Amino acid sequence: MRYVSTRGRAEVLDFAQAMMTGLARDGGLYLPETIPTFTREDIAALDGLPYEEVALRVITPFVGTSFSQDELKGAIARAYQGFDHVARAPMVQLAPGHFLLELFHGPTLAFKDFAMQLIGQLFQLALAKSGDRVAILGATSGDTGSAAIEAFRGLSNVDVFIMYPHGRVSEVQRRQMSTPADANVHALAVDGTFDDCQARLKDLFNDHEFRDAVGLAGVNSINWARVLAQIVYYFTAAASLGAPLREIDFTVPTGNFGDIFAGSIAKAMGLPIGKLVVATNQNDILHRALSTGEYRVGTVEPSISPSMDIQVSSNFERALWLAYGRDGAAVNQLMDELKSGGFAVSQGALQHLRETYVSGRASEDETTEMIATIHAETAEVICPHTAVAIKVAREHLRPGVPMISLSTAHPAKFPDAVEAAIAVRPALPAHMADLFDRDERITRVENDADKIKSLILERRTV
Ligand SMILES: *Cc1c(COP(=O)(O)O)cnc(C)c1O
Repeated sequence: MRYVSTRGRAEVLDFAQAMMTGLARDGGLYLPETIPTFTREDIAALDGLPYEEVALRVITPFVGTSFSQDELKGAIARAYQGFDHVARAPMVQLAPGHFLLELFHGPTLAFKDFAMQLIGQLFQLALAKSGDRVAILGATSGDTGSAAIEAFRGLSNVDVFIMYPHGRVSEVQRRQMSTPADANVHALAVDGTFDDCQARLKDLFNDHEFRDAVGLAGVNSINWARVLAQIVYYFTAAASLGAPLREIDFTVPTGNFGDIFAGSIAKAMGLPIGKLVVATNQNDILHRALSTGEYRVGTVEPSISPSMDIQVSSNFERALWLAYGRDGAAVNQLMDELKSGGFAVSQGALQHLRETYVSGRASEDETTEMIATIHAETAEVICPHTAVAIKVAREHLRPGVPMISLSTAHPAKFPDAVEAAIAVRPALPAHMADLFDRDERITRVENDADKIKSLILERRTV
């Protein structure tokens, strides 16, 4: 399988190279040159299989010769053995025809573990073969960072640097990043927003000299392997509710557009997904873009669903590339316009996007209300991101078509928002019960690429 950049000017790579590279050298994002398809029989055969077996079948065609079947099988087994639910991504029912896909049973309690645990295993395999050492650099609105640290802590040939917006993540999220004692873990509190962190990340990756000097590797959802791992649970969930014999709709609480983009790939592979609903909080650039065709960057307003507090949604570039008929030059031009505040999507491309995605938003009050409503109706305690999804999903229900809303985090990661809604403080699971007693290690840094570079050079251990 060959991987090409959305901006059309970077080297074509194989799967392992694309994974180790992260951001393409032309500033673009890697995508497979062709999308493999599953027949109706292939999909029907998935129902009832263990999660790991479905993962192997879905991931294999994208990996080509980068890893053997045995290597991949072993990596998948090790990635998910630490999850606390045998189904890995179990579903509960919210109402007739409306289901919740629980993606928070991994070690750091958010869906990011699905991809990060697998990437951790695949990086180890690739580094063992090449003998290389890498400095992983990530930007996080909270959950990616803790998932990356959990996946890479203590590994001998890897340093992991995570930039998060100072004062804008929940206390549980911050402590998950600042309490691991391993010397190769570095939590950087940047004076800025998540968008600033992501912009500095791209600055450092686009500095090719620095990038090569420290062996920079990226594990944000700009990394194709992240998106790939997230395709799997669309298949397990849809197959268990009757795909391929019936259509299934999904609603995804969306920030950087990685999770929902994985859903669009599942659909392109042949999974009968009907509506794919983008749910945003008050930071609704994606909802505005899909409604009006104008992608205009506003200012990030902190919300009670902080993992979606974002204005520049990196993976949207992948959807644009597909919508513009794989035209790297057109994407290049849009990204140039984005530097001065935004762009208008062409009529043709907008129509293409609307064939795949619909969208909606939830205000802060609507999010809090939905946490209370779901608790009253089902006794389920949900996190604020999940509440955003459910609020928007309810506006898109169709008779006879099951709707699956993605539950992206455990409510105990966002206890203040949950308590404000239902007067119950959700408890952390046993393996994290002492999180508030552990010592923290954080380095505060200015929103400045050179300062961050010096810090990486100074702190790296490998
Ligand atoms: C990361 C995250 C999201 C947004 O996912 P994207 O792939 O960035 O769109 C939603 N909810 C939670 C809890 C998250 O951690």
